[in-house]
Amino acid sequence: MDIPTLTIDGVRQGLFARTFSAVELATEALRFAEAQNARTNAWLHFSPERALAAARRVDEQLARGEDPGPLAGVPVAVKDVIVTKDVRTTCGSRLLEHYVPPYDATAIRRLEAAGGVILGKTNCDEFAMGSSTENSAFGPVRNPVALDRVPGGSSGGSAAAVADGSAVVALGSDTGGSIRQPASFCGVVGVCPTYGRVSRYGLTAFASSLDHIGPFARTVADAATLLGVIAGRDPCDATSAAAPVPDYRAAIDGRVKGLKLGLPREYLKDLASETGALIAQGVEQLRKLGCEVREISLPATDYAIATYYIIATAEASSNLARYDGVRYTTRSAHSETLADLYRNTRGEGFGTECKRRIMLGTYVLSHGYYDAYYLKAQKVRTLIGRDFEHAFQQVDAVLAPVSPFPAFKLGEKVDDPLSMYLSDIYTITGSLAGIPCMSVPCGTTAAGLPVGLQILTRHFDEPGMFRLAGALEQPTS
Ligand code: GLN
Repeated sequence: MDIPTLTIDGVRQGLFARTFSAVELATEALRFAEAQNARTNAWLHFSPERALAAARRVDEQLARGEDPGPLAGVPVAVKDVIVTKDVRTTCGSRLLEHYVPPYDATAIRRLEAAGGVILGKTNCDEFAMGSSTENSAFGPVRNPVALDRVPGGSSGGSAAAVADGSAVVALGSDTGGSIRQPASFCGVVGVCPTYGRVSRYGLTAFASSLDHIGPFARTVADAATLLGVIAGRDPCDATSAAAPVPDYRAAIDGRVKGLKLGLPREYLKDLASETGALIAQGVEQLRKLGCEVREISLPATDYAIATYYIIATAEASSNLARYDGVRYTTRSAHSETLADLYRNTRGEGFGTECKRRIMLGTYVLSHGYYDAYYLKAQKVRTLIGRDFEHAFQQVDAVLAPVSPFPAFKLGEKVDDPLSMYLSDIYTITGSLAGIPCMSVPCGTTAAGLPVGLQILTRHFDEPGMFRLAGALEQPTS
């Protein structure tokens, strides 16, 4: 078995042909992932007991002649903001360094019920705040494509693990681009589904109205399969959608002829040349397949960064209030009063970026500033959503860059939060609108750095998104 090139289908064939057992695969995958981790730091901890127990179940089902499910025996990586029963879940934070959750997220339960084998938990920016994975309390992740560069963030560990082959698929979380941007930087497929498509139960809250769980994979088909497994209504998450889950994989049927695609003028005007040229190539490929491409306008785009960083920090300041040293957390050792306990625990536990966002979020929610910032941002969010509604009256999908530039060097932006925030410029609009969006690899720069193309579709039109992504993935002559 060639671990780094395995796909979900490849695992399935190997298991059913008895080329290898699920336990053999899990053992080998764990060994490979641990070896890769020495280069990338993509993994925070492994869960060999849980992985081998899941693999054993798959082997038993196979021996009984049963089908263990669509993820039978597939090695999976999980971002460490998604809770796993009895397996440490740190959120990349010192505060949760020793936190062992008493329950599984719904996505985790579904993944294992479908035969998936969780190898371990992946590194990320602290509480998913960042665009480079350099905000992790446990050291940055190195991009397997170029080890002196960041893998993107905040789900950089999951993207790197899939890119270097140490997991076949992975789960990440996306609030403003944290799946799509690292997928683009590492050259893999990354999907942020419609808001509410996947239950957030067990996803550590950053900005609840923007948080999504979504898949990483090396192929569009694998991403579609994984999304099909984790999607669907969950009584534990009131915001999860009741809409039925279609067969996403079946949507990858190559029938893209006649589809209308929109290129937002606001996104392409200051795009760096190499990234822009690769995006144009991807668009051209879809045009050759019979898609009709036209320019569209998303006029509220200029306000997106400001809007996102007001709403996301406001929600974060509230969500992070629970880390007070009383529950969950590493508690500061020397505190005389309750107020000291809160202050010391939070002061020692949170990293700089979390503190910056708690301050900003508290400010925009405070009396006297609420109307001027938070309420205004909510109104602009509605306008951004309307821009897309308007666009989807004219086109079936919007095509866009994922990031203005490919993977940057480690340390390059870490002291300049504003320039780091600007790397989200093309991903946060889709998040604010709550529509499905994904990154598909569309080539590499002269220096060998991957670039992703973003596809955005109407609410719940993941099938349309996967159909286009599948067409883009196929090389055309
Ligand atoms: N980079 C963005 C931020 O720092 C998005 C993060 C995310 O999607 N979790 O907020």
